[in-house]
Amino acid sequence: MRSGPFLCNLPAARDGPNPNATNMTNRHHNFVNGHWVDAQSGEWFENRNPANAGDLVGLFPRSDHRDVDAAVDAARRAFKTWRLVPAPKRAELLYRVARLLEERKEEFARAMTREMGKVIAETRGDVQEAIDTAYYCAGEGRRLFGDTVPVELPNKFGMSVRMPVGVCGLITPWNFPMAIPSWKAFPALVAGNTVVLKSAEDTPLSSVNFIKTLEDAGIPAGVVNLINGFGEEAGAPLVDHPDVPVISFTGSTAVGKIIAERGGRKLKRVSLELGGKNAQIVMDDADLELAVEGALWGAFGTAGQRCTATSRVICHERVLSKFTEMFLARAEKLKLGDGLDPATQVGPLINEERRKAVHQYVKSGVEEGATLLRGGGFSTGECVEHGWFYEPTIFTNVKPQMRIAREEIFGPVVAILRAGSLDEAVSILNDTNYGLSSSIYTKDINAAFRAMRDIEAGITYINGPTIGAEVQLPFGGVKETGNGHREASWTVLDSYTEWKSIYVDFSGRLQRAQIDTHDAEKQ
Ligand code: NAD
Repeated sequence: MRSGPFLCNLPAARDGPNPNATNMTNRHHNFVNGHWVDAQSGEWFENRNPANAGDLVGLFPRSDHRDVDAAVDAARRAFKTWRLVPAPKRAELLYRVARLLEERKEEFARAMTREMGKVIAETRGDVQEAIDTAYYCAGEGRRLFGDTVPVELPNKFGMSVRMPVGVCGLITPWNFPMAIPSWKAFPALVAGNTVVLKSAEDTPLSSVNFIKTLEDAGIPAGVVNLINGFGEEAGAPLVDHPDVPVISFTGSTAVGKIIAERGGRKLKRVSLELGGKNAQIVMDDADLELAVEGALWGAFGTAGQRCTATSRVICHERVLSKFTEMFLARAEKLKLGDGLDPATQVGPLINEERRKAVHQYVKSGVEEGATLLRGGGFSTGECVEHGWFYEPTIFTNVKPQMRIAREEIFGPVVAILRAGSLDEAVSILNDTNYGLSSSIYTKDINAAFRAMRDIEAGITYINGPTIGAEVQLPFGGVKETGNGHREASWTVLDSYTEWKSIYVDFSGRLQRAQIDTHDAEKQ
């Protein structure tokens, strides 16, 4: 085991009021029916900076089923009018949201880094994803295509149209605090639905900033509502509510299964975007510099806390030692620290509980016989001692059956596995319960196309890392990563619309369909 000293960045000095003051100014609210309100419990929960646990970001309302009921009631009433607003007009609102987000990008990115730790370049990217999604979905306001099709009978016309479904309950994780709410809310809204967003308890400030932007853009009261609080207290009542026909959930597979079961009892449409155990294959003809660069970014970007993070590198045995040596050398130089410092490359984990969970996985790797090449502990040093930092960790000699090779760790831990051929590499890659993202580095076009065909995943990158997505392509995974839905792109509209088939008979007489034509002619 090797674990070199870390280059750390001290937290940047912050302007403004004492962040620890629990005064009224850093209390935030729910947004229900166009008003910012407290939770009916009168209780609050804390949001702390994971890079510096002494820094209290704010207090947020601890909501329960009463707040959910009020928000759903407002959304249900607003749906009656919002669904009748022409889609291009609904889209105009999203264009205004996009422009406001552009103006506020830096402010929101800094707030996001403070509340969830990822480095400022990544939080700018998170807000940018919301901007891109707003523009993309606004464009859908002038499409929302249905079909016209030929019909069997004369003087008759057939078409299909997308109809909004009603109140959509959106339940989101903390790792993309603005991008993921935007992936859900914007397509739901442009399609004519109303929305109740349950923020993630670790990142409520970004949800407040997101909803405030919609308010400032002029969203009518009740069309968008925000509930802050915990999963069982505030999320579950949304899933159970009889007036919420759509649940769109992004989070862990464990919680996704609970939501699928609860929603299924009421025959709701439940869209699930869940965990991953993503792998990068490195073939013996790969550009190794590029492959190392990709693995470094994929494994340690966002401190490994992305659903698409590179958790495994499956390396061809002919380049295994060279790749490992180059990868290790680069990992040794990573700079940990406060994400607000532009020199920081790896921020903290989201909270102490997650840090302990990551450490348990590392211990299991050691116990099961993998070689801990570097890392494997809580980071130490002046710049990281007050936050939930974990050392970038690399395991070698990992066997496919080990827990670190099979289960989602959601931290800066990467397992390197050996493969003797493309077939073996693909077979190892596929040997998990998950199927979100994947990648292969090779110069052989035949190998690339075989990988594209045979890898079981919703996303495959050729000569790129497993992380990174663009809004105009479907996003989601197979197996226990989801239940067949896709976010982003035009495909997301299937989660937020019902197809209606419409027949227009302009013959002026009864034309009976679905009876035998000869019988019909005799009558
Ligand atoms: P989580 O499942 O713990 O929580 C997600 C959300 O669900 C939170 O808002 C939480 O309050 C809520 N929740 C928890 N229990 C609930 C319940 N019983 N009923 C209703 N709501 C409940 O996940 P997390 O820790 O916030 O996020 C990390 C996970 O999210 C990882 O597994 C990651 O892979 C996954 N993720 C997936 C994608 C994707 O698109 N596939 C994207 C980002 C994150």
